[in-house]
Amino acid sequence: MTEKEIYLALSGVTHPAKNDKSLEALGMIDRVSFEDGKARVRLAFDKHRDPLADYLIGACRAALVAAGAADAEVTAIVRNEAPAKKHAGLDLGLEELSGVRHIIGVASGKGGVGKSTVAVNLAIALAREGYCTGLADADVYGPSVPKMTGTEGMIPDAVQEGDREIILPIEKYGVKWMSIGYFASPEQALIWRGPMACNALKQMILQVRWGELDVLLIDMPPGTGDIHISLVHDIPMEGAVIVTTPQSVALADVEKGINMFRNDSVRKPIYGLVENMSWFTPAELPGNRYYIFGKEGGNAMASKYGIPLLGQIPIFQSICEGGDSGEPVALQDGRPDSAAFRSIALSVADIF
Ligand code: ADP
Repeated sequence: MTEKEIYLALSGVTHPAKNDKSLEALGMIDRVSFEDGKARVRLAFDKHRDPLADYLIGACRAALVAAGAADAEVTAIVRNEAPAKKHAGLDLGLEELSGVRHIIGVASGKGGVGKSTVAVNLAIALAREGYCTGLADADVYGPSVPKMTGTEGMIPDAVQEGDREIILPIEKYGVKWMSIGYFASPEQALIWRGPMACNALKQMILQVRWGELDVLLIDMPPGTGDIHISLVHDIPMEGAVIVTTPQSVALADVEKGINMFRNDSVRKPIYGLVENMSWFTPAELPGNRYYIFGKEGGNAMASKYGIPLLGQIPIFQSICEGGDSGEPVALQDGRPDSAAFRSIALSVADIF
């Protein structure tokens, strides 16, 4: 098969969304070649995720085989990829944060200490105290806000303003929520690396119509890597609350977290430490406290670094179940589990 024959074979393939013009006329045939009985064609699309891309690739392959190619490989590229600047997210301004009075990060030295649980319950507790509250779930490696708030599967609306697309947060339980989890599956998010994760996170915060808020909490990814430094630099965060368990392994990582915020290039105040999973009280022995992860580790760390201990949250089955069912305990009244979060919310509100 010659190149000419390949073009001829493809001449009948037209783009239904572009006045049925042929791909050749639209300049979409980017490259053709023929080798060892195999026709290779590369199509060039103007935009990512052209809804007709799969259809057109299939139609080209069928046309080539019908024209006698023993095998046909049709691939696609995006021709006019947005300029690097746009991809780097550098054109995202801070306009959407102009109505937000306080931005506070919720961080942890390591994963699994209950950072997201604390962030979600804290957001609800603040909202129930009358503060206009938002929460941006920037935990790119394990966005858990959709599940914890029962908003899994929801897709936020967006509005187009000029050449900008603004995402509208999901509103539930009196809080405005935004999460990378509304856009990417956990598997997808997991493979994001460096700049890609950073850009997605910045969009998740800067491209969202937060409106007027007393406080926006940022559920930060666990750890202290480049993503954190970039987040802290690019988002006008006032300071952070750090969540830990009393366990020494968690505390060792908290020291790294504290040092990250106190680092010369960052210099953000740490408003306090929240000790989670402080003790366990079985329902049948309400007077007993079992210090499963050690006792008063958070207190010791707080005094070592001169940071207030904002509160201790015991291990409650209801906290875990509330996270799994999408109905966080902070929605309840007059119970020790929700009271723990309410008291921390009041301490956080004292900051602003
Ligand atoms: P992180 O955000 O630090 O990775 P998560 O908030 O996802 O941690 O919590 C990890 C697990 O621990 C979740 O299953 C959550 O429900 C559970 N959990 C967190 N805090 C408590 C608590 N105080 N009592 C019981 N379970 C908790």
